[in-house]
Amino acid sequence: MVETLSIAVIGAPAVGKTSIIRQFIYHDFCEAYAPTRSRYVYRPAVILNGNMYELKVLDVPPISAFPSSSSQEWLDLRCRGVRNANAYILVYDICCVESFEYVKMIRQQIMDNREGSSSEVPILVVGNKRDLQRQRFMPRRAVSVLVKKTWKCGYVECSAKFNWHVVLLFKELLGIAVARGVRQNHTSIRLQGALQRNRCTVM
Ligand code: GDP
Ligand code: MG
Repeated sequence: MVETLSIAVIGAPAVGKTSIIRQFIYHDFCEAYAPTRSRYVYRPAVILNGNMYELKVLDVPPISAFPSSSSQEWLDLRCRGVRNANAYILVYDICCVESFEYVKMIRQQIMDNREGSSSEVPILVVGNKRDLQRQRFMPRRAVSVLVKKTWKCGYVECSAKFNWHVVLLFKELLGIAVARGVRQNHTSIRLQGALQRNRCTVM
């Protein structure tokens, strides 16, 4: 039996969401910026601690807010599947304070809009573009303490450009999700496709 976990990747425009996902799955990186206009779903398979998972990674195009109701989610194609994701990766650019403010807003909206135990959904905040760290707006330690202690989210910094900590961030999120017993449906058929296309990452 293979578990499927849906992970929504959300963040301000140009912070590197698509770059992180594509580096993780295809090991490629593109310097030129091509804005993601519509929602895109990637389905990599991963092995963590001997267990296999199929991930459904949603590359979410810029949204002004987290969908506050199911009907809103269904009206806006960009948000499809965002409300019921099993986990979130909230990406910001360590050199851009506005992108951090956006992550702060989305994280609060996730807490407000997912009621009861589902508000305990795993959230990993990711500071991307670590290679440009001389231009960062806040010391790493200060952000990490704020995110971990106050927001109760995981925190990882990475560089999609240099493939630094990219596998680690997925491993970290999956570790939190598995520890919290996040479970969705079981699939085995689609996984074969993922394996054939050589898209299984051992973490
Ligand atoms: P998205 O809009 O959040 O999906 O951002 P993209 O993944 O399309 O990346 C936006 C721009 O940032 C592109 O020009 C990328 O080449 C660049 N970029 C992404 N990740 C990094 C990184 O880790 N370091 C640097 N220096 N540039 C990056
Ligand atoms: Mg994108």
